[in-house]
Amino acid sequence: MVRLSGITPSGHPQLGNYLGAVRRWAVEGGEDDLYFIADLHAMTTTHNPGRLRARTNETLAVLIASGIPPEQVFVQSDLARELGALTWVLECTCSYGEAARMIQFKEKAGGQAGVRLSLLTYPVLMAADILLQGASEVPVGEDQSQHVELARALARRFNQTYGEVFTVPAAVLPPTGARVRDLADPSRKMSKSARDSAGVVFLLDEPDLVRRKIRRAVTDGQAKPAYAPEDRPGVSNLLEILAACTGVSPVDAAAEYGTYGALKEAVADAVVGTLRPLRERTMELLGDPSELDRVRKAGSVRAAERGEHRLQSALRLIGAA
Ligand code: ATP
Ligand code: MG
Repeated sequence: MVRLSGITPSGHPQLGNYLGAVRRWAVEGGEDDLYFIADLHAMTTTHNPGRLRARTNETLAVLIASGIPPEQVFVQSDLARELGALTWVLECTCSYGEAARMIQFKEKAGGQAGVRLSLLTYPVLMAADILLQGASEVPVGEDQSQHVELARALARRFNQTYGEVFTVPAAVLPPTGARVRDLADPSRKMSKSARDSAGVVFLLDEPDLVRRKIRRAVTDGQAKPAYAPEDRPGVSNLLEILAACTGVSPVDAAAEYGTYGALKEAVADAVVGTLRPLRERTMELLGDPSELDRVRKAGSVRAAERGEHRLQSALRLIGAA
């Protein structure tokens, strides 16, 4: 069973990406699981090429540094030829109406001028990501489940119309992990593409900056910390971060700290301590471009080989090769 997960290099990877996803991939992932950096998906809205390339490298270094086996990691654009060809085949399997029904397209395109065509077609590229690798499970949140349904429908339709090539994938719920909120605005989740980064702890932030961001975290006017996610999201978020870093429960952590100051110092220590080895290893990799490049090439060769027979069969069956 192949499980495929991706991360889009739409910004610097942040604490939520690590505690909620990457760390679990490294610890709980199976040996057939695959992880990719979805840089082609970061081009569907205005983007800066140099910055995208740098974020892609940084994200690759973070995944490797986190302990995910390098042979399970690849960069999407290294398979641009294969994915481009398969996307075309799948676009010829998909109706316009099906693509236009995607809720995320309507949300993101809504009323804007100059919407890129790729914003409409990217779910088909996502189907190609999934079907090329023969993934049977795709852990995604609510916002992406419609896209996995599309991949499922396209796989079925292709198999029925032209011949059995593709594994029919299913969306699975990702393991419920820490859900980290923005420190400055706890009504939002922490995001690498947030416009204001004051409340976002990036994985490569200097320890002093991490501490400053945590000390400035928005809490509330109550006398002392308590765990109440609905009513007191700011302080509860800090308790959850502490819990994710130390293994104690948020309720026990709340009982341990009588002031916001003491709690924030504990959270800062825990986050800095948790990120230190990851940060050091990531910086090491980024400082050794030839090693990172070697890992990247090996990953992309393996990922391309894994999908080659499916692509060739699909092209042949549809009448192209
Ligand atoms: P973007 O703002 O571009 O959507 P993001 O920070 O939300 O970026 P994604 O690339 O969408 O990151 O998601 C990568 C992985 O990180 C997913 O598995 C997602 O569930 C997880 N993730 C993202 N943000 C958080 C968060 N704040 N807490 C826990 N997990 C998160
Ligand atoms: Mg996101």
